[in-house]
Amino acid sequence: MSAQAHVHDHDSPEGLVSVDDARERVLSQVQKLAPLRLPLTDAYGCVAAEDVLATHDLPEFASSAMDGFAVRASDVAGATPSQPRDLKIVGRSSIGQEPAGTVGAGETMHIATGAPVPAGADAIVPIENAIVEGDELVRLLDGPAPGTHVRPRGEDVHEGDVLVPGGKRLGAPELGLLANSGHPTPLVHPRPRVVVLSTGDELVTPTETPAFGQVRDANSFLIFGALRDMGAMPVLAGIVRDDVESLRETIFSFEIQADAFVSSGGVSVGERDVVKAAFFRRGEVDFYKVAMQPGMPQGFGHVEGKPYFGLPGNPVSVFVSLEAFVRPAILKMMGRRHLFRPEVTARLTEEVRGPRGKLQFARVDVRRESGGWSATPTGARGSNLISTVARANGLALIPAGTESAPAGANVKVMLFRSSED
Ligand code: AMP
Ligand code: MG
Repeated sequence: MSAQAHVHDHDSPEGLVSVDDARERVLSQVQKLAPLRLPLTDAYGCVAAEDVLATHDLPEFASSAMDGFAVRASDVAGATPSQPRDLKIVGRSSIGQEPAGTVGAGETMHIATGAPVPAGADAIVPIENAIVEGDELVRLLDGPAPGTHVRPRGEDVHEGDVLVPGGKRLGAPELGLLANSGHPTPLVHPRPRVVVLSTGDELVTPTETPAFGQVRDANSFLIFGALRDMGAMPVLAGIVRDDVESLRETIFSFEIQADAFVSSGGVSVGERDVVKAAFFRRGEVDFYKVAMQPGMPQGFGHVEGKPYFGLPGNPVSVFVSLEAFVRPAILKMMGRRHLFRPEVTARLTEEVRGPRGKLQFARVDVRRESGGWSATPTGARGSNLISTVARANGLALIPAGTESAPAGANVKVMLFRSSED
C-alpha cells in the first residue's frame, strides 16, 4: 500500500459519479450532532432533540379577563339593573400577586384584568355592571354564568402536553412557548461550527490590493454567507497557501473548533496532491469527478472524525457545490428533516445549452407570472462568473443528456432565495 492509502481517487473517466450518487455518499456519512442543552437564544433555529413536555398547566392560575368584581356566580344569579344584588367587598386582587383572602358567600373582591381569581370566586362582573357604594359594598347589575370573563388555568396547555415535538425547529413561537412554560434550556442539535479555508497561492484578502495576477478571496465570504443561511456557525480560517505543511497546520490548529471543514480550491487534478498529502494518516478524503457543471471535482471525507468538504476553487462551482452537497449535509447534522431546497417547474425564456453527460446547474432569475413560473438565464452557459449567481435566485437543473433546453421548455428549478430578497 502506498503512503496515501486513505485517499481514494475516483478520477478515471469511467469513475464519473452522478450528482445524486455523490450526494447520497455524502449524506450517508454525516450524522446529527449530539444534542446539547442550550439557552433559548442559542437554541433559536435549532431542532429539538426530544419531545418537550409541559411540566405545568399554562396559564398556571385562573385570571380575570376584565376589570371588575370576582364573585360567586350563585350569589348574583338573576341579577339585572332593576333587580341588582349587593355584595360585601372583602379585598382586591391585583396582577402579579396572590390574592389575600378568599371570596365567601355574599362577598366579592375588586379584580384587575390579568389578576388571579381568588379562591371561592368563579365569575367576573365587569366594572360597567357594578355600582360601588362606599368602601365595603357593591351593587351588581348582572348575573354572569360560572366561568364568565375568567381565563381558566390550563386553557393554553395542560401539564403533560407536548409543547414542541422532537424534530421540530425552534422558531419564534416555540421560543415564546418554551420560555412561558419554564423550559429555558431545551435539548437541541447544536449549530455545526464549520471551519472555512481558501487555498491558493494567488489569493489575497479583500482588504488588500491584489498585485498583478493575484485574486481577492471570494470563497471564504461566499461560504460564510451560505453557512449562515443554513444556520451553521462559520469560522473563517483564512487563506492557505498551496503547500502541504500550511494546509495541515491550519486544519489541525482549527480542529478543536470544528464540527466540519469546508475548503475551496486545490482539488483539481494538478493540485489535489497537496490536499491529499495534508490528510495523510489523519483523515480519509475521497475525490470524485461528479457529472455536473459547474463543480466537477469534489473532495469529501473525514479529518479527525469530522466531515471535510473539499470544494473546487471557482466561486460559481463553490456556490453550486454548497447547494448540491454541503447544504443538505449541514442540515442533516443540524437534525433538520427537510434537507433540500424547494423546487418549481419553470418555463425557460431563452435556450440553455447543456454539457453532454453532465447535470447542469444553470443560474436563473425565476419569477412567478400569471401562467406559472418563468426562468431567465443570468449568464451564458459555462460562464464561471460569480455575478451570474448574484443576479439569480434559482438553479435550473438541465439533466445530463440534454444538449439543448429550448426557450419555452419546462425545467426544474431549485429556489435558493425568494425573488424579493
Ligand atoms: P483551483 O481549483 O484551486 O484551481 O481554482 C480554480 C479557479 O478558482 C482559479 O482561477 C482560482 O484562482 C479561483 N479561485 C480559487 N480560490 C478562490 C477564492 N477563494 N476566491 C476567488 N477565486 C478563487
Ligand atoms: Mg488553487
